[in-house]
Amino acid sequence: MAEFDFEAVVVGAGAVGLACGYALSKRGLSVAVLEKEAAIGQGVSSRNSEVIHGGLYYPTGSLKARLCVQGRRALYAFLETHHVGFDRCGKLVVATAPEEAPRLEAILEQARTNDVEGMAWLTKAEANALEPELKCEAALISPQSGVMDSHGYMLALQGEIEAGGGAVVVATPFEGAEPLDGGGFSVRAGGEEPATLACRYLVTAPGLDAQHVAGEIAGFPKADIPAGHYGKGRYFRLAGKAPFSRLIYPPPIHGALGTHYRRDLGGQAVFGPDLIFVDALDYSVDPSIRGAFAAYIRKFWPGLPEDQLTPDYAGIRPKLHGPDEPQGDFRIDGEAAHGIAGLVALFGIESPGLTSSLAIGDEVAKRLGL
Ligand SMILES: Cc1cc2nc3c(=O)[nH]c(=O)nc-3n(C[C@H](O)[C@H](O)[C@H](O)COP(=O)(O)OP(=O)(O)OC[C@H]3O[C@@H](n4cnc5c(N)ncnc54)[C@H](O)[C@@H]3O)c2cc1C
Repeated sequence: MAEFDFEAVVVGAGAVGLACGYALSKRGLSVAVLEKEAAIGQGVSSRNSEVIHGGLYYPTGSLKARLCVQGRRALYAFLETHHVGFDRCGKLVVATAPEEAPRLEAILEQARTNDVEGMAWLTKAEANALEPELKCEAALISPQSGVMDSHGYMLALQGEIEAGGGAVVVATPFEGAEPLDGGGFSVRAGGEEPATLACRYLVTAPGLDAQHVAGEIAGFPKADIPAGHYGKGRYFRLAGKAPFSRLIYPPPIHGALGTHYRRDLGGQAVFGPDLIFVDALDYSVDPSIRGAFAAYIRKFWPGLPEDQLTPDYAGIRPKLHGPDEPQGDFRIDGEAAHGIAGLVALFGIESPGLTSSLAIGDEVAKRLGL
């Protein structure tokens, strides 16, 4: 029987890798989470909308549909217990023109199939009674949607892993792994003090690096590594007073939920993200797109003062589809997918990955037979 340094090694200390580490630690395993950057949460988890999604849109039977709803319920409980900031402000999905109303009907039906609590149809007058500056023909209300402090969440997960005797090791890139005779893995970690660790279970949650990391695991079938694409989303911030207290979402665009409004925990209004496919990790926000952003926002907020809209940040989605392909599901690939016992590899953990993270952790544990 091999001696293991840790029972489980997780690659990547974003929200999902930390949630996987927490799930394994809760089951009594000793866990090491390896992070290549000098701090946790510097990847996709630090460049998103921080929205806790209700789980309205995702197709029946998909991992996204199930894990978003389960993850959201677990997340609110976790944030409350760990005193991490959140605002269960609710969300309005709005029809900005009469022809969008049938899309709201379809979203309402899908949300009910997905077991999303408290969904209701609002007339224009009912929506305006809640949000007087809103322009819409009709709306859906999702009372369980909200916003959160994603960094506070990741720190709380790190705290739980460490309290369980595990380690979150920064500035330590995963460089490869070889399966051991008799089970488990030998993991090569780089950084200032390169080391080799033996572990029984290996989980890879490296976000945008998922394809590269899987390629460094000896025996991982190359044909089972899905092609990756970068889906960039840009945000603008409003300098003035936030106009709405709830999240405001027009119907989704192809491949994403589309540019929406949120009031962040600091009380400021943020609009975004759009979706463009890019070849490189470039986080710049081109100020010249302000006019296009403003035109889109005016569909639901005619009172927007365009000169108060300033370029803010951008994030990049780890997508498994290109611009003209249908949007895919999360991939949580265990032994049945790649044939390697004790390994779970995550791919395409785009939105709603933050909301789903605790449920993804539990699903990973289940796929390891734990
Ligand atoms: C624009 C945008 C908006 C979004 N909005 C929302 C939202 O409102 N709500 C929601 O639920 N979801 C949202 N998401 C999705 C959500 O942000 C992601 O699903 C989630 O953050 C993914 O977390 P992760 O841990 O998988 O990835 P990451 O946070 O990227 O973490 C991966 C980590 O792995 C590390 N790593 C990579 N390679 C190695 C290596 N070789 N060795 C060690 N470490 C390595 C990276 O440095 C990184 O820290 C959004 C995403 C984007 C891009």
